[in-house]
Amino acid sequence: MSYCITIVSLGPGDSELITLKGLNSLREADYIFCPATVRSDGTMLSRAQEILAELGISSSGICLFPVAMNENRRYATDDYADVARMIAEKYRAGYKIVLTAEGDAGFYSSSAYVSDILTAQGISVERIAGVPAFIACAASENIRISEQDEEMTVITYLASAEELITRIGEGRTLVLMKASRFESLVKETLKVAPDNVIFHYFENTGIASKQFYTCRRGEILTRRFPYFSLLLIRRED
Ligand code: SAH
Repeated sequence: MSYCITIVSLGPGDSELITLKGLNSLREADYIFCPATVRSDGTMLSRAQEILAELGISSSGICLFPVAMNENRRYATDDYADVARMIAEKYRAGYKIVLTAEGDAGFYSSSAYVSDILTAQGISVERIAGVPAFIACAASENIRISEQDEEMTVITYLASAEELITRIGEGRTLVLMKASRFESLVKETLKVAPDNVIFHYFENTGIASKQFYTCRRGEILTRRFPYFSLLLIRRED
């Protein structure tokens, strides 16, 4: 009978940050489904596919599927339904299927929606853990995320700069994911935050040709935050 479907977390971009378990699953798979975004010229761009290429995984079984970045969730929901249909078809034909996710698949990942659709059809899904981007970002600059009694909050949306200023005042380490969505609010906050609050800013961590890091406020202000950017904000006395 069929195998279960495996969701493999690829890590944030540096191909060496995949787990051995994940790599073994990729090597055994007949088909590997990778999320991609569609460029304006219609071609697809997939960080997952780039990681697989670096790992030396044969491209013959790789299937890219589009994930709409539109604020209207309807588009993405349709994409998840489409890919779940393709995966279920191949699975029922007896193939070993892997669905990939950037970073960790259980941390802000569209693979969760696809997993839910498959599970609802009685198909079993297993998930292999991976290194989330914020962990890799902190490690790349040897920044401690939390120690002793410190706590951490992950933020993915901000309504105002005041909200971020309040959060900073609470003294927790903050991880700002999807920072491109609230770039201007981060920049507003930067200008007024106390000096002992350090804004660690990361772009494309782990991608040698694109990665960028700075904690200089003036430099952060000049950046146009790309999709793969995040900030770690910490009080460092
Ligand atoms: N599953 C992923 C998160 C996906 S949400 C994880 O475990 O990390 C996408 C967000 O993650 C991006 O908007 C960005 O904030 C962050 N991100 C992912 N990869 C990144 C990278 N290589 N460098 C910087 N930020 C990254």
